Amino acid sequence: MESWQRAQQLLRQQVGEEHYDAWIKPLRLARLEEGQAVIHVPSKFYRDWVRRHYLDLLRASLNQDGGPAPEIILEIDRGKQHELFPEPPNLPTSAAKAMPRRRRARPGGLVERYTFDSFVVGPSNQFAHAAAQAVASRPGELYNPLFIYGSVGIGKTHLVNAIGHRVLERNPQAKIVYISSEAFVNDLITSLRQDKMAEFKNRFRKVDLLILDDAQFLAGRERTQEEFFHTFNTLHESHRQIVLTSDKFPKEIPDLEERLRNRFEWGLTADIQAPEIETRVAIVQAKAEQAGLDLPPEVGDVVAQLVGANVREIEGALTRLGAMASLNSREINVEFAREVLAPQTRTSASPITMDHVKKVVAKHFGLSVTELCSKRRTQHIVHARQVAMHLTREIIGASYPRIGSEFGGRDHSTVIHACNKIIRERDHNPSFTTTLRALEDAVRQKRT
Ligand code: ADP
Ligand code: MG
Repeated sequence: MESWQRAQQLLRQQVGEEHYDAWIKPLRLARLEEGQAVIHVPSKFYRDWVRRHYLDLLRASLNQDGGPAPEIILEIDRGKQHELFPEPPNLPTSAAKAMPRRRRARPGGLVERYTFDSFVVGPSNQFAHAAAQAVASRPGELYNPLFIYGSVGIGKTHLVNAIGHRVLERNPQAKIVYISSEAFVNDLITSLRQDKMAEFKNRFRKVDLLILDDAQFLAGRERTQEEFFHTFNTLHESHRQIVLTSDKFPKEIPDLEERLRNRFEWGLTADIQAPEIETRVAIVQAKAEQAGLDLPPEVGDVVAQLVGANVREIEGALTRLGAMASLNSREINVEFAREVLAPQTRTSASPITMDHVKKVVAKHFGLSVTELCSKRRTQHIVHARQVAMHLTREIIGASYPRIGSEFGGRDHSTVIHACNKIIRERDHNPSFTTTLRALEDAVRQKRT
């Protein structure tokens, strides 16, 4: 447990006495085994807070020997909960403000920080941005639906949320629903099962703005497509705005009914491309500023070069850079940025293969590659399989059908479902984000 003491000391220096006493001191390292640290927290409140604010720091602090950072598992220690920690501590508000902001949900399910103000415009997204602004200023009148498409992590969800915020600003009474198509599918299934279809219909057909994110997920779901078809018609006929996003152009979404595909193209389709280097530099600077990270311009350039075109990766890189700098009390300069970001961008002589991805993921989950690709459907195996499919898609860029056939001859819609599920989980569960990032690093560095 010596490493835990060292880690705690480091953390104390990093977060300051006050936060240390409030949040870190009550943590107990229960086990530190290969690649995994189980830490006991006194309550759910602590767990969520620590997960949100200190997870990267914790990982880094337990990783002083330079090996792979351990996965952190936060467990609530129910036994000690009451005697030791009756109430969550009161933090001074100024300090609380300095904490990273979380994704807070707003009316209609909008994500608070995804606004036009925080969206960086460049050649790659200019058209989609202009279309979004136009639609936000005159919903239902200009382009209906607005269909925005592009690959993952390049700002689709951000942009459509911005539309929602703008519409609400102008008309606080406006009824807005933002929903991912996966959630739409789930809601529909629940409503059917509970015999609450009237409520379901009301919820979606009586809005001024309906934003359906990741519409590709409707692929192969006939009942949902039918329901959405009617929702679409009702809204469209009464000049209510519909906004859709997808990772593909309507024509390329597999297993989508012709009549829906056709409607998706009725209004305006706008694509977002991967940002080119200048836009990436601007995004890096904007994100650093938002995160309160002091980033000299030349370091911003290096980050933008090292990290790929996926904006989400840019955010991850900055988080990592900030955590490492503060933890090691290092100044953020070009050399340090290269040091920290090199592992995830190091290109190896031979390309990464699917077998390698499978091996890394199987090992992480304690499975054999055969199990990973088998027909078995226990929760643990299914989850591992979904992670592996997602990483294959993100890192190798293989097509959905190809991934399907590589993972036990599955249908491409299963793969799409898997990838979407993992992305959603990553977006909503910071500790899973950390795990996923570690796995991705391991794959890229060809470690097993
Ligand atoms: P997508 O929905 O296309 O997968 P997101 O909208 O979730 O991508 O974007 C991923 C992350 O990158 C989000 O945190 C978002 O704020 C950020 N992002 C993407 N594009 C931009 C941009 N042009 N300006 C600022 N942030 C961006
Ligand atoms: Mg998205």
